[in-house]
Amino acid sequence: MCDAKAPGAGKRLTTESGVIYYPNTPEGHAAASADAAKTMGPGAGEGQQPPPPKENPNPPEGCEDYSDALWDKPCSKYFKYAHMKYKPVANPEANLTANQIACNWQKTCKNILDPLIDAGFKITISSGYRTPEFDRSLGAKNSIGDHPCGRATDIQILGQGDPAEKAKDLFKYIGKNMSGSFSQLIYEGRWVHVAHGGNSPASVAVLVARTGSAPYQQVGGKAGTSLPPDLKWA
Ligand SMILES: [Zn+2]
Repeated sequence: MCDAKAPGAGKRLTTESGVIYYPNTPEGHAAASADAAKTMGPGAGEGQQPPPPKENPNPPEGCEDYSDALWDKPCSKYFKYAHMKYKPVANPEANLTANQIACNWQKTCKNILDPLIDAGFKITISSGYRTPEFDRSLGAKNSIGDHPCGRATDIQILGQGDPAEKAKDLFKYIGKNMSGSFSQLIYEGRWVHVAHGGNSPASVAVLVARTGSAPYQQVGGKAGTSLPPDLKWA
């Protein structure tokens, strides 16, 4: 995890323990976008992703009641609620309360991010939870995607060589070892998008281009049976 202070445009906040997050304001959105662009490059908003279906198949259960007093506290073995990067707010379009969104985030950390740390990956969360307002500022047409529900995260490996090559390692590891944990996995070039219990169809996809009507290619569902050679895990 890398929580280094990032200078530049917009407005950032820092928890007492040093985790950077953003206010849910235009200035906060600008800062989050600027920080993401630095490591993710073009397309960090993923505005071209197809909209997921409307139902909410996995209402979260079994979490502690979230309040902002827990923001800088651990929600899993290695992560805090603050790693969401925005404090959770209710998402009426997805029929989720702030509490349920925090619960989704906790499950994503426990089921996806913690196991990656245990496997030795030094991951950076480049985009975690997105408030509906922030997601729309990135071009989202609705608020039912996995990011504004706390179910998706974009992760990178930074400072260890070419991020695109490192993202391949991450993608292949998750695809091969964690098919019971992720609902969607996308190789995005410099980063990997991974969702847990998400609305988006259970799938594995590969980014083809940042523009155009079909920027993502489906590669054989969670088995990844038609992956390109450099991304094959089996
Ligand atoms: Zn994403």
